[in-house]
Amino acid sequence: MEEFEFRELQSWKEKEYFPLLNKLISKDEMLWLNPKIEKFETGSKKTPLTQEDVREAEDRLNRFAPYIAKVFPETKPMNGIIESPLKRIPSMKKSLERNYQQPILGELLLKCDSHLPISGSIKARGGIYEVLKHAEELALEHQLLTIRDDYSLLDSDRFRSFFSQYSIAVGSTGNLGLSIGIMSAKLGFNVTVHMSADAKQWKKDLLRNKNVNVMEYEADYSKAVEEGRLQADGDPSCYFVDDENSHDLFLGYAVAASRLKKQLEELEITIDEDHPLFVYLPCGVGGGPGGIAFGLKLLYGDHVHCFFAEPTHSPCMLLGLMTGLHDKISVQDIGIDNITDADGLAVGRPSGFVGKTIEPFLSGAYTVSDEQLYRLLKELADTEGIHLEPSALAGMIGPIKLSKEGTDYLHKHNLTGKMSKGAHIIWGTGGNMVPEEMREQYYQKGLNLTQTKKNP
Ligand SMILES: *Cc1c(COP(=O)(O)O)cnc(C)c1O
Repeated sequence: MEEFEFRELQSWKEKEYFPLLNKLISKDEMLWLNPKIEKFETGSKKTPLTQEDVREAEDRLNRFAPYIAKVFPETKPMNGIIESPLKRIPSMKKSLERNYQQPILGELLLKCDSHLPISGSIKARGGIYEVLKHAEELALEHQLLTIRDDYSLLDSDRFRSFFSQYSIAVGSTGNLGLSIGIMSAKLGFNVTVHMSADAKQWKKDLLRNKNVNVMEYEADYSKAVEEGRLQADGDPSCYFVDDENSHDLFLGYAVAASRLKKQLEELEITIDEDHPLFVYLPCGVGGGPGGIAFGLKLLYGDHVHCFFAEPTHSPCMLLGLMTGLHDKISVQDIGIDNITDADGLAVGRPSGFVGKTIEPFLSGAYTVSDEQLYRLLKELADTEGIHLEPSALAGMIGPIKLSKEGTDYLHKHNLTGKMSKGAHIIWGTGGNMVPEEMREQYYQKGLNLTQTKKNP
């Protein structure tokens, strides 16, 4: 294996990280525990974002609910609140325990963001929130709206024609583009989505059908974002949704926490000192998992333990956190190709804003191979009848990894004796909109891998 050339990276001094870095470079699956995690009480003093900011985002989504219910009828049963189910998955739990020869202590649940209305992925949280916030600002500024109005009045030619004077741009590997594109077009904005090479054809087709401009690039996510930023720089009426730095996206994701708290209460699952909660979140650039983890820490403090999950070929956040270099380092810098079938996670350079914000709160991060993702996809379909996209399975192996490799963490945080009273939530980040034909292909891949594993 090539020796990592670190001289160019000035701030890289801690030698003890080398064994783990070489493991990352070799693309073996690994679990990394965050040495910089702090007690919530001290960690929370380091962030400029607060519970008040999250509440403000929640209030804004509530103001828009009558409009959402009107223009997206599938959200009517929930009165225009875009939320997903939380489900126990006992059959999948048994299957994991059997296949990995590892008991999972505590309950296993799936947060089905795969089934979020409008765009079928976690991006229906942050992405839609940011577009709504921008629309509200414009309408308030031009005195077309007050925050006491019934926002369903935005569903009118008057508002659509007003918003059509403005444009919105975003760079995406697919799902963020879907959310931003669908929401912006519905309001009447001119919207352009700059898609990376990873983006699936059906996502581009779907957006074009909804009058969204789709630009395609041969390069990865970072390039698509750069193009979006360039477009917006040259045009004052164009608003750029900056997935790498946006506080609004982050806060839109963070709203998930208070909604989850209610769902846990409905399922009579207690979270406190003696009943720890573990949450496993697939991570791309970091905004989605970061915002949700942040929101959960604000509510549950030291009783919640959040882990990020990334493909072995795109471990950008793990690399940024482990080295402390955040967005100053990319996976390509250490010879990793950022090529993965987990298109939602195909990001080579993490968000510096998210990495720094989440650093005192995150318990750890781990990597998972594409083959593993397919096997888990097939297994979840067989055991629970739930179909996810490959990215969305990255969290599923978390409880196994933590139980097998995370005993230091469990000891250190005095969790060993409490595990059987705890709960694990796998964040299932996408999949409901995948066309039938592709869903079948994904399943077949998982099936083939499972069979070759059994009969080598
Ligand atoms: C975007 C995405 C993620 C990760 O969100 P980031 O904000 O990029 O970290 C996870 N899963 C799916 C399916 C996604 O589309």
